[in-house]
Amino acid sequence: MKILVTGGAGFIGSHLCEYLLGKGHEVICVDNYFTGSKKNIQHLLSNSNFKAIDHDIINPLFLEGKIDHIYNLACPASPIHYQVNKIRTIKACTVGMVNILGLAKAKKARILQASTSEVYGDPKIHPQHELYWGHVNCNGPRSCYDEGKRVAESLMMAYHWQNNIDTRIVRIFNTYGPRMAKNDGRVVSNFIVQALKGEPLTVYGKGKQTRSFCYVSDLVEGLYNVMNLEGFHDPINLGNPSEFTVIKLAKRIKKLTKSKSEIIFHPLPQDDPVKRKPDISLAKKLLCWEPKIELDEGLSHTIKHFKEML
Ligand code: NAD
Ligand code: UDP
Repeated sequence: MKILVTGGAGFIGSHLCEYLLGKGHEVICVDNYFTGSKKNIQHLLSNSNFKAIDHDIINPLFLEGKIDHIYNLACPASPIHYQVNKIRTIKACTVGMVNILGLAKAKKARILQASTSEVYGDPKIHPQHELYWGHVNCNGPRSCYDEGKRVAESLMMAYHWQNNIDTRIVRIFNTYGPRMAKNDGRVVSNFIVQALKGEPLTVYGKGKQTRSFCYVSDLVEGLYNVMNLEGFHDPINLGNPSEFTVIKLAKRIKKLTKSKSEIIFHPLPQDDPVKRKPDISLAKKLLCWEPKIELDEGLSHTIKHFKEML
């Protein structure tokens, strides 16, 4: 198959491109390198089945020939990066989504949208299942991303109902692994880099907020399974349901890196969700999928990557 991955030079996107090439597909990676990096796909460039295009999805995309599947991942994902230019984030999720849906329509391609657990906002039910409508502050600092991704889901469903586009929506929960940008501000990369450099680990608030961390290889396999699932268009959660407090994560990373860094406390950012854990019953039932990599194993791979990078 010929497969387009937007955001293919990013953290998840580059692993997805690699996975698809490994399955024998032809892959076109489209990226504007805002948070992604050419280094992430450098090793793929010699593969004749791989092509990289420098393009911002806020502008219409025209491609020659057929496209069978489109994975739309193009959007900054870490809070500091999606908040640095909020208008661009909203545009990537809305104007960009319309452009990529237009391409899917023209090519009669199946399209998967990388949605997010952020559509649940600061959730009032726990764990979060797909039927929950969420609790999002529509004008807070995270809203450019949260509401952008909610509109993107709405656009996906509208194009499906109105134009019969073959859509898939995945709500991705916190994912980590090698090739996260060392400066992207997300908790796993921040703590590992700080621990390896002997700098203090910056816990926001008291560190009692929870997240559930999925290793990237599990997530990529899940994305592929959803794309290849026939006839299901409603959102599906993908993530690892093992839930940890942020302070516990800091201690775990200190232990695994054998770091002597201290843990310090910074103010909690506004609207930071208190609890997050995916209910993955639907993915288990429909895809026979569940994550395999435990936190310690995934962190060890990620620490190795950052040691090499630093
Ligand atoms: P990332 O920032 O590493 O990757 C995003 C990629 O998209 C980057 O390569 C970036 O350069 C590119 N991009 C951004 N805006 C673009 C634009 N307008 N045009 C073209 N390319 C653009 O982040 P990631 O963690 O790999 O996330 C990938 C996708 O998964 C995102 O859509 C994100 O919202 C979603 N997601 C990720 C997580 C997670 O925990 N990693 C959780 C939920 C959802
Ligand atoms: N966090 C933290 N220290 C950091 C970075 C993040 O305590 O250096 C916290 C953040 O406040 C949040 C959690 O870790 O509660 C996850 O943050 P991240 O930015 O990775 O992703 P989010 O799930 O908030 O989008």
